[in-house]
Amino acid sequence: MKNLLILPLAAVLLIFGCKAKQEEALVLKVLLIDGQNNHKVWPESTPVIKQILQNSGRFEVTVSRTPPGDGRKTNYNAAQPTVADMPENLQAKWFDWRPDFSQYDVVVSNYNGVLWPEEVCLDFVDFVQSGGGFVSIHAADNAFSQWEEYQKMIGVGGWYGRSTGKHGPKVVWENNQLALDHSEGKCGAHGARNPVLVENRNQNHPITKGLPDKWLHPTDEVYYNMCGPAQGITVLASAHSDANTKGSGKDHPILLTLDYGKGRIFHNMLGHGIEAYAGAGFQHLLMRGTEWAATGKVTFDTPPSSDFAADTAVTRTP
Ligand code: ZN
Repeated sequence: MKNLLILPLAAVLLIFGCKAKQEEALVLKVLLIDGQNNHKVWPESTPVIKQILQNSGRFEVTVSRTPPGDGRKTNYNAAQPTVADMPENLQAKWFDWRPDFSQYDVVVSNYNGVLWPEEVCLDFVDFVQSGGGFVSIHAADNAFSQWEEYQKMIGVGGWYGRSTGKHGPKVVWENNQLALDHSEGKCGAHGARNPVLVENRNQNHPITKGLPDKWLHPTDEVYYNMCGPAQGITVLASAHSDANTKGSGKDHPILLTLDYGKGRIFHNMLGHGIEAYAGAGFQHLLMRGTEWAATGKVTFDTPPSSDFAADTAVTRTP
């Protein structure tokens, strides 16, 4: 008698369980922004980012490409130019670039260039504040040093005239926690490119929950001296910057999440070059982080442990 009662109940739970999962698996709309970057690889990295996301079956990715820059030499000591600094023919093109963020669940940035027109900046602030997701990849956190709300979204950034005096403290990972360094100085640095040992610092966050404690990521840059308002940062992973190869000799946060209004930000400092995107762990993080930014949840299964190793970087063609 007891078993007869339990069985139908188990069957009902199973049915509802499956149904709930199907409802969650709606395709999420991603707007991937590129068009300028001091990393000249961007025309190659954008299709790879798109491929990684779309291969998962969870995302539909639309690329929005800004007008190009005017070819001026990068000045890392000053904020990027504005549209007003561009020649007239390019200003006209910027006038036509008006992405409709409200049509998407999450915006992914592979962009570091001319400050967006004010109208676009305001739309973007409104989008994230009202619950939209944002994913910043590598040099996207170099962008927009003159845009205060953007600094709040990414928490910390580097280069382009950033300094602790103007932008806020630097972040380090010290004594097993996030620490702020208020010492005066310019922000943004990295040592030589090496394979990066990623250390998972958060087994509670949906993005990194269930991932190994550490794994080797392919050749990439470990950003350090990253500074900004640094408010409400949750550190997901850190990496050591090797003093023997022009690094800081310290550990630094490299994967962060933040909230901004009702929106969520996944800030991924990795991704300098194409080899980085081949990292199996990087691909899982991009998928999981983008889903979390879009919905606040991660519905992907825990990745197989064979996709991570501490002594060799596991890679896969996206
Ligand atoms: Zn780089």
